[in-house]
Amino acid sequence: MSRFLAKRLGAIEPYTPGEQPQGMTFIKLNTNESPYPPAPAVLQALNGEEAAKLRLYSDPDLRELTAALAKYHGVSEKQIFCGNGSDEVLTFAFQAWGTDDGVAYPDISYGFYPVFAQYYGLDAKVIPLEEDLSIDPAKYEGLGRMVVFANPNAPTGLTMPVEAIRKIAKSDPDHVVLVDEAYVDFGGESALSLLEECENLIVVRTFSKSRQMAGARLGYAVAGEALIADLNRLKFSFNPYNVNRLTSLAGRLSVEDEDWFQSCCRKVMATRAVTTEGLREMGFTVLESRANFIFAKSPAVGGEEYYKKLREKGILVRHFKNPRIGDFVRITIGSDEEMQTLLEKTKEILKEAEG
Ligand SMILES: *Cc1c(COP(=O)(O)O)cnc(C)c1O
Repeated sequence: MSRFLAKRLGAIEPYTPGEQPQGMTFIKLNTNESPYPPAPAVLQALNGEEAAKLRLYSDPDLRELTAALAKYHGVSEKQIFCGNGSDEVLTFAFQAWGTDDGVAYPDISYGFYPVFAQYYGLDAKVIPLEEDLSIDPAKYEGLGRMVVFANPNAPTGLTMPVEAIRKIAKSDPDHVVLVDEAYVDFGGESALSLLEECENLIVVRTFSKSRQMAGARLGYAVAGEALIADLNRLKFSFNPYNVNRLTSLAGRLSVEDEDWFQSCCRKVMATRAVTTEGLREMGFTVLESRANFIFAKSPAVGGEEYYKKLREKGILVRHFKNPRIGDFVRITIGSDEEMQTLLEKTKEILKEAEG
C-alpha cells in the first residue's frame, strides 16, 4: 500500500477469491464452476468473425444480448441490465440503493457483500443465520434499509421460499430488496415471479455457474424499469462498455440454447444427489443443497483437516475460517467421475483418521 492511498480505502479488507491454480493438476471443486463446456454455438462463434471485430467498441446498450434475455424471461428490454460478472451488477446495486440508509445481509453468505459495503462506506446491519444455518425471513422485514440475500444461499445451499421474499419486499416498499440468484438454476425457486407486484425487488443472475461461462464474466439483473435505469446511470458514469464483444455474443448464444443449458443443470443435480448420498453413508452431515455445491461436515475429521487432506490427494475444495462454519467444507459438484474420486479419497481420509 502506498502512502498516497485514501485512508478509507486502506482500511478495506478485499475479497479473497477461491484458489485458481494454473496448470490443471487438481480436481477443482473449490469455486463452483461447471465441469461442462459452454453451449456448442458459443465455442464455434468465438473462433469466428467476432474476433475480427475486436477493433470496434462493444455495443454500450448490449442490445442483442439484452433482447435475448428479455425474451427468455418474458420481460421488456428495459427490465434487463448486464454487467461484467454479476459482481459488477452487485457493486452498482450496493452503491445505488445502500448509500443513503444502509444495507442488511446475513452474517454467512456471499463473501463479497461485506466488501461492497465497506468499499462504499455503507452502514451494514449483519444478521446472524439461525442455529441450523437457515435464514429467518422475519428478521429482514421492515428494516428501513436495502436488503440483500443469496437464494439459494452460499455457502449453505439452503433456500428461502419466494413467499417469504414477497413479505420482506412488501414490509418496506421504500427500500430495495435484492435477491442474488447465482445458484437458482440448480433447483431453487426464482423471485422473478414477484417483479410485477414488487417495484422494489431486483433479481441478479450470473452466467458463471449454470451457463458454464465463469471466465467470460457476465451477469445481469432483472427488475422494474426504474431500478434498471438507476443501474444504467451508474454504468454510464463508470464504464459504458462494461461487457466486451466476445462475452456478449457468447451470452446471447448461450441463452438461445435452452437444451444444452437444461441438460447441464440436470446432470449437476443428479451428480449432487449421488455425492450427497455417498457422503451421508460415510457419516457426513450434508445440508440440503439446491446449488451446484454441497456444504458438508464429518464427525470424524475437522473442516480444515479434511480440506488439507483432500488437497494433498489432488482435490481442491473450499474451507471458510469463520468459526460458525469451520467444521464444514464447500464442495463444488464436478463431473460424475470427479465426484467418484472425491468419495474414494474421502474414504481413505476417514480410514487414516481412525488410525
Ligand atoms: C459466484 C457468485 C457471484 C459472482 O458471480 P460472477 O457473475 O462470476 O461475478 C455472485 N453471487 C453469488 C452468491 C455467487 O456465488
